[in-house]
Amino acid sequence: MKRRAALLTATALTGLAATLVTAPAAGAHDTAAPPRTGFELSHGARWTTQPEERRLLETVDRASARVHVTRIGTTAQQRPLRLVRIGAERTPNKVLLVCSQHGNEPSGREACLTTIRDLAYAEDRDTRRFLDRTTVLVVPTANPDGRAADTRGNSDGVDINRDHVALKTAEGRALAAVIRDERPDIIYDLHEYGATPPYYDKDLFDLWPRNLNTDPAVHDTARSLSQDHVRPAAGAAGYSTGTYGIWTDPVTGDPVRQTAGDGQERILRNLSGVKHAVGLLIESRVDPLTDREKVDAALNNRRRVDSHLAALNGLIRFSSEQRGTVEAVTARARAAGHADRGPVYLGGADNETPDPSEVLADPPCAYRLTPGQYAEVGDELALHGVRVQKRGDGVLVPLRQSLRALVPLLLDGRAAYHLTEGEAITSCR
Ligand SMILES: [Zn+2]
Repeated sequence: MKRRAALLTATALTGLAATLVTAPAAGAHDTAAPPRTGFELSHGARWTTQPEERRLLETVDRASARVHVTRIGTTAQQRPLRLVRIGAERTPNKVLLVCSQHGNEPSGREACLTTIRDLAYAEDRDTRRFLDRTTVLVVPTANPDGRAADTRGNSDGVDINRDHVALKTAEGRALAAVIRDERPDIIYDLHEYGATPPYYDKDLFDLWPRNLNTDPAVHDTARSLSQDHVRPAAGAAGYSTGTYGIWTDPVTGDPVRQTAGDGQERILRNLSGVKHAVGLLIESRVDPLTDREKVDAALNNRRRVDSHLAALNGLIRFSSEQRGTVEAVTARARAAGHADRGPVYLGGADNETPDPSEVLADPPCAYRLTPGQYAEVGDELALHGVRVQKRGDGVLVPLRQSLRALVPLLLDGRAAYHLTEGEAITSCR
């Protein structure tokens, strides 16, 4: 028997965690209490260690029929990259949580580990129904070597969140394969940021894919996830929210400066949109801003994690309540590329008009790669899920496919992060 808890209530998941561990046993067969993270056991005084994470995931995998933990890769320092799958065998809807791509931003990972445990043990009807229809996929530690060293990059100093086009890192490659194989409807990417009071200091900032190649309906659904669900859920729990990368006037709230949020495709937030998922980046504030937090690091740490948990509650409610909309918009976006129509954007963003030179108004219908080029980039194309056609001893990469806009981003010499410069073909029969 598992213990009962209502997950889909107004109560933040943090409240739930406390309920789970203090509630009386639900029955005589209830032998094992849900495991707690190192962070919870220390009341926020320290982060969960990687051996603790491994034990927690093993326990949850054994105890819960709805949880499956698999290894999706191995880092340069031989640490495992793990994917946790929570839900029924085959669900139409999938949500992917990517936690702490930056190793020195640990709070997202803590929120993910707590969420895995809570979803695994929840027995209330709403959560069970949710998990019958939606699989929650979690990469709890997206950068294990960086977490071990408390560094932003991996052990080679590479920022994994700038590697989602090039796929040079084991971490980036593992994640690309998950996105290719699972085709998540929602990709939710948890980070932390350093505040600059009084212009940029909310408890949480989030941002949707600004990349102009994002299907308009996917883009609008992602913005609605932020503005109508995640931010209100965080607000109801007492956390302030805003738009990532936008400094605001502390008195009027008007935007005064943009420090991030460009459309560049190699960030997971933007590539999620290019790959037709409803993407959201979310960042909790590292810095203590109250006097109590300044003298109590555990209190500061708990706010960093609890604010993420409150926002995650909004995400889970959105996934549950808007499931039909999300499925419809992602399915339409995935199919749209087969029509091979419309411009492809090499620059710009939803709040920045692209330079005319950055717009392929009438893009090529394919790019031809020589055998040498294909030998060099074939693995990466396959990891992205880009389809190719054998032509003589080389390949042709048609734009007429689901990931249409990604093709020029990878193979056009004018794209900022192209893998190789293919020969543009303008006539495909
Ligand atoms: Zn980050």
